[in-house]
Amino acid sequence: MVTYHLMAFSIPQGVLKQINKLMRTFIWMKQERPGQAPSSLSLVNWSTVCRPRSLGGLGLPDLAKFGRALRLRWPWFSWADPDRPWIGLSSPCTSTDMDLFRASTRIQLGNGAKTLFWHDPWLPDGGITCARWPRLYAIATRKQRTVQKELQGNNWIRSLQHIATPQELSDFVDLWGLIVGVSLTDATDTISWRWSSSGSYSATSAYKVQFVGSFPPFATAKIWKAHAEPKVRFFAWTVLHGKILTADNLAIRGWPHSPFCSLCQTHLETIAHLCHECSFTAEEWDLIKLWDNDDSPAPTSTVSIDAYWDSLIRGKPPLGGAR
Ligand SMILES: [Zn+2]
Repeated sequence: MVTYHLMAFSIPQGVLKQINKLMRTFIWMKQERPGQAPSSLSLVNWSTVCRPRSLGGLGLPDLAKFGRALRLRWPWFSWADPDRPWIGLSSPCTSTDMDLFRASTRIQLGNGAKTLFWHDPWLPDGGITCARWPRLYAIATRKQRTVQKELQGNNWIRSLQHIATPQELSDFVDLWGLIVGVSLTDATDTISWRWSSSGSYSATSAYKVQFVGSFPPFATAKIWKAHAEPKVRFFAWTVLHGKILTADNLAIRGWPHSPFCSLCQTHLETIAHLCHECSFTAEEWDLIKLWDNDDSPAPTSTVSIDAYWDSLIRGKPPLGGAR
């Protein structure tokens, strides 16, 4: 249901927040507080939960990014299929949506009649004029003209009459050098999508590209490929984020707790202690290794839980160091 709305409207932040709140209560334990609406006890940050699994999340949709990916259908079909009946209606895309759209597309110039000189990615190297030369864009007097109109008789130069500084002059020469080789034809301008092999827009690729530059905080694939019940994999995921409610985390939240490990009663209860340092846990790991015919050495020093996990994945002793 929300997908249809996200496709057609830019949903206000407050509404997204309410929908996210409802989604959170499905995942995390509900917290009842006298005199207040029930809320969820989130252990892992919601923006992390909404990352793809390969990037350390649970793969739930990030509604803001998902909505943006869906809304890009509007500018895409305005270009690719201008006969659609709704073409010409006002677009729900925000300026951020359009920034993503322009960064995701490339225009092959024909007659230049559909392409905006300052805003569309039409330069020979795929660049956008206003992003490449912001100083010139700031002083340009006509910012919404098409490439066709601006290249005709070098009209674009008239738009830059107020060049006053050496930097602006240098930018002008650079722009001129790039434009001088551009020639228009009689064909219509066409557009292609950068993130798919077919060159066509897809909501999936528009969503995924918004996570470019993100890295997983730990090796995630082994968790989700494990032959274990979903609740066990979910627990492992929470452990690796360092968010299970051991005594140290309870102390951070100011919740009542006993500081000592409930197994050995001698050490402080931390995730690293509970999951591999405790003598009781170590016995369990030894048994599992025995069943698995795994003779890799156990860690000899205190290591963080993600370093320990990494060592399990690689089958090598963990490197020391706190998380
Ligand atoms: Zn212990």
